[in-house]
Amino acid sequence: MTKKILGYVELEWTCPNCHSKNRGKTAVCQSCGAPQPADVQFEQPAQEVLLTQPPPQAVSAPDIHCAYCGTRNPAGSQTCASCGADLSEGTARQQGQVLGTHRPQAAPDVICPACGSANPATARRCSQCNTPLRTEKQETAVAPPPPRKTNPIVYALIGLALFACLAFAFMLFRTEEVVGQVSGVQWTRTIAIEERGPVEYRTWRDQIPANAEIGRCEQRVRTTQSNPAPNAVEVCGTPYTIDTGSGLGQVVQDCYYEVYDDFCRYTVLEWREVDKVTTSASDYAPYWPELRLRPGQREGARQESYEIRFNADGDRYTYTTSSLETFMQCRPNSAWILEVNAFKTVRAISPAR
Ligand SMILES: [Zn+2]
Ligand SMILES: [Zn+2]
Ligand SMILES: [Zn+2]
Repeated sequence: MTKKILGYVELEWTCPNCHSKNRGKTAVCQSCGAPQPADVQFEQPAQEVLLTQPPPQAVSAPDIHCAYCGTRNPAGSQTCASCGADLSEGTARQQGQVLGTHRPQAAPDVICPACGSANPATARRCSQCNTPLRTEKQETAVAPPPPRKTNPIVYALIGLALFACLAFAFMLFRTEEVVGQVSGVQWTRTIAIEERGPVEYRTWRDQIPANAEIGRCEQRVRTTQSNPAPNAVEVCGTPYTIDTGSGLGQVVQDCYYEVYDDFCRYTVLEWREVDKVTTSASDYAPYWPELRLRPGQREGARQESYEIRFNADGDRYTYTTSSLETFMQCRPNSAWILEVNAFKTVRAISPAR
């Protein structure tokens, strides 16, 4: 992110003594003659007009308040313009605070409280009766959003969800033992058939594998950075005004660069499952299915699944395993100890002695 300086505008300050508005560069109230105290902040005028030629000293340093009389003196002054005191003991004004969004547009007219005539929003005194004009402080400061307060109900719900998860895990893993007799079996064996064919993916051009066929590409934002680049587009935020401490505001804009790159479709040849052959029966003689491969095909993964059904005092349970050894031991009517969880799922079996 880079800060781009768009220019400078003259700020205002409101006299705490007589409440009239004063130009930023004046150190003493034009209505009552009181000096601007150090704690009276500069404000944005109703309409900010960029100065064609900002005084160079405004850019570098904030004004200094005299330690003796409090008068504001321009940066670089050696002695106070009002009382002649040495300014090396004075205090520099704050600078760098964000005052708000830049206001290039004309604000609505202000009605004079004394005579009722309309004056431009930028006017500090009524053009008819010379009464100092006041404006309500416009709420434009770039304030961070207020911290979100989390509803206690949300905490309660989170607690409840957590409790439910724990209870679920408890029911899932806590088991009780049941003795059952084998009432039936079924085995299933599967072999996947794979074929080499084109598979489409998408990625950045420089990440496409060498053997791929490149398809359609489009320009997309790949990264953002603060420096310009050949294939980058500058993106800038809303301009805003910063207090320089000298009565001038610096109008800036935060910018960064979106770097574009080619995002492409590409195809590569890959083995993927296109078919499978399966054998299944309710006996104790499992065998693998016969595989007939066409040209360009190969054998894929093999899977075996053995399902054993139990009867335990009228309750029926099913246990599924990939272990042929366990399956072969589950002879008809043999007795087994079943570890059953709350969902009636058999987690493990062992021979009952
Ligand atoms: Zn005043
Ligand atoms: Zn002084
Ligand atoms: Zn008036």
